Amino acid sequence: MERLRKLEIPERTVSVQIDKAKCVGPFDCGECLKNCPATVFITYPKNRVRGEICNDWDIVANDVLCWGCDVCIKVCPKNAITISELHAYMPHAYMFKIEKYANDEIVRWAWAPAQSAWTSAYLVDGLLIDSGPPASTGDLKQFIKSLAPEQAIEKVIITHWHEDHAGGARFLSEELGLPVYIHKNGIDKVRNGYSYPDYRVFAWGGPFEPAPNVRPLDISAIATKTGKYTFELLHLPGHCDDLIVLIEPTQEWGFVSDSIVPEYQMIFGEPSEDIHEDIQQIHASLKQLQQYTAGMDRLTIFTAGFGMFPGQEILAKNISDIESLHEKVHELKSMGFRERKIVEKIFGEEHLMGHITNYALSRLNLVKALLKWPTTQKNK
Ligand code: SF4
Ligand code: SF4
Ligand SMILES: [Zn+2]
Repeated sequence: MERLRKLEIPERTVSVQIDKAKCVGPFDCGECLKNCPATVFITYPKNRVRGEICNDWDIVANDVLCWGCDVCIKVCPKNAITISELHAYMPHAYMFKIEKYANDEIVRWAWAPAQSAWTSAYLVDGLLIDSGPPASTGDLKQFIKSLAPEQAIEKVIITHWHEDHAGGARFLSEELGLPVYIHKNGIDKVRNGYSYPDYRVFAWGGPFEPAPNVRPLDISAIATKTGKYTFELLHLPGHCDDLIVLIEPTQEWGFVSDSIVPEYQMIFGEPSEDIHEDIQQIHASLKQLQQYTAGMDRLTIFTAGFGMFPGQEILAKNISDIESLHEKVHELKSMGFRERKIVEKIFGEEHLMGHITNYALSRLNLVKALLKWPTTQKNK
């Protein structure tokens, strides 16, 4: 306690990122775990098998606890930790942060209604990938205003129509007059606007205002403003019908939006909802992405919600997570367990979002989707 009193605690609201490509892990290092006075760092087994000792552990940062003393940055021998200022404000605790990667060539503007629900827009040499939710448009304006002339946005690609990605489309296409592109499967939603349930309005603002000038994305590659980078565009449905992933093959960068998540523990709504995921299609799309990027050993994946990951590792993990969940739910079903019991057996309990959304976004839906996917077609 005395030691804590003596600490000079700066008044900062910050976000902590660990570059997983640099971090050597808790067994070989663990300096951040040992030295952080706020116990921000947590370690957990990556692949736990019941009854076996796990030697593969990971570190994550629970940055809600962080007070920004920078001790971890000083002790990390691999320069793997970055702390960015969070700009948080009431009444809704909305916040945003800016992160830079690849020698500042990639700028991530991330926005959240709460610490655990981030979405992002990435800016690479004048190409903006995604545009944040409707509630973030004021912050997006500020971000764009703050850009140096050479960073000015030339064109925009929206990875899919969900409101947390396409919410700035109207502002960018109407007010700024920028060319804004989206896959043809999502264009009607964005051009015409749509409404959605209250819990989504609460999180992302809304309803979604029409952006009639958005253009269909009917090309397979797009060059950035100075021609430094060319992104190949892959249509990888599953999370939704129009999802586009951008790959820069010479740099081995992949901007994958919501198609990759650290853990497959939750899924979007029932088929009757406008947002629902198809787990079989997600699996097929991830396999396609894995084949497409085979040989890109340095592949770095940039996600919308969770930042950056070593690409081949996270791809392989997502695929094997889905395959093992698929096997488990069918096995439990064959033993006579019902869907809710299967959720309990696999995850312990329903995800908090499942309760908040009355199962619209729930593990129960994931289990239902996995059961609909016949076991014999798993790897096709
Ligand atoms: S900045 Fe300080 S409080 Fe925050 S994670 Fe690093 S060591 Fe912990
Ligand atoms: S101090 Fe750096 S390298 Fe060591 S475990 Fe923490 S993040 Fe990884
Ligand atoms: Zn989405």
